[in-house]
Amino acid sequence: MLAQAIKTEELLTVNHLVKHYPIRKNAFGKNAEVVKAIDDVSFTVYKGETFSIVGESGCGKSTTAMCLNRLVEPTSGEIIFNHEDVLAKSDKEMHSVYRNMQIIFQDPYSSLNPKYTVKQLVSEPLVINRAGKMAEIAERVRSLLDLVGLGSQYMNRYPHELSGGQKQRVGIARALALNPQLIICDEPVSALDVSIQAQIINLLKDLQEQLGLTYIFISHDLSIVELISDRVAVMYLGKIVEQGTRDEIFNNPYHPYTKALLSSIPIADPKLKKSRERIILQGDMPSTKNPPKGCYFHTRCPVKMNRCSQTYPKESLIFESHKVSCHLHN
Ligand code: SF4
Repeated sequence: MLAQAIKTEELLTVNHLVKHYPIRKNAFGKNAEVVKAIDDVSFTVYKGETFSIVGESGCGKSTTAMCLNRLVEPTSGEIIFNHEDVLAKSDKEMHSVYRNMQIIFQDPYSSLNPKYTVKQLVSEPLVINRAGKMAEIAERVRSLLDLVGLGSQYMNRYPHELSGGQKQRVGIARALALNPQLIICDEPVSALDVSIQAQIINLLKDLQEQLGLTYIFISHDLSIVELISDRVAVMYLGKIVEQGTRDEIFNNPYHPYTKALLSSIPIADPKLKKSRERIILQGDMPSTKNPPKGCYFHTRCPVKMNRCSQTYPKESLIFESHKVSCHLHN
């Protein structure tokens, strides 16, 4: 197998990102109880790559994505996009970030306004941003629909007249309308049938190649993440526990949680099936309202040690891009 080529020009850097939701105040008006949705998350995304964030539902991956363009306001941390500090920007200055950082949402059924035609849906961001005269916008909509494989014959249809895959193609055309540099794909295929999932993943890959796009891909489905990613971060209870290139994570995982997640990927070949031992984790993910002391994973970890319940492990560098937070590898 060819060695994976890694991009090196930084587009987005996230440092020590935190998002806490206060749920109860004490008698002095201070936050007595908080939900730690994201707890000290750091990563870098390079131009032209697909950086995936994976983990179970409720691990904080979608909240992380929503913090990047401040759809959710982070509690603290630093977000540098295109060499600019996103959290220091005023509402007016945020417009350039919105233009360059678009989102494809999980559910194509509810993310499109049912009262709008396809033409209105795709032209909306262009009209809001005054991206040309009406004739120019109509031409741009036509070319975007061609680009996503729908064609201009769908211009006057309404969302209820489209299949799930066609709706998601409209969502992708909308996200592409303003020529963004970064697209956040938040579980973009999880609501679709398996055969349609493959078509949408192939479309995203083709568009990336044609347009030089950068993706942040949020998913709980590791088989899809393996297909599309250049690099992968694994999240557990609001923290990144391991990150590295796709090959490092899928061929040589270090963190016990990553190993457990990978062991759950279905394998079609019965011979290979025997060679992979399934690791079944005991219990549920603890609440982000009250994460356990020490390593957050110790309540479910099959190889935990005494110190695991005392201190949270520091992040260790395994190899250039491969990092893991686990006492076994400190
Ligand atoms: Fe398991 Fe300990 Fe590593 Fe946490 S630090 S993953 S509990 S071995």
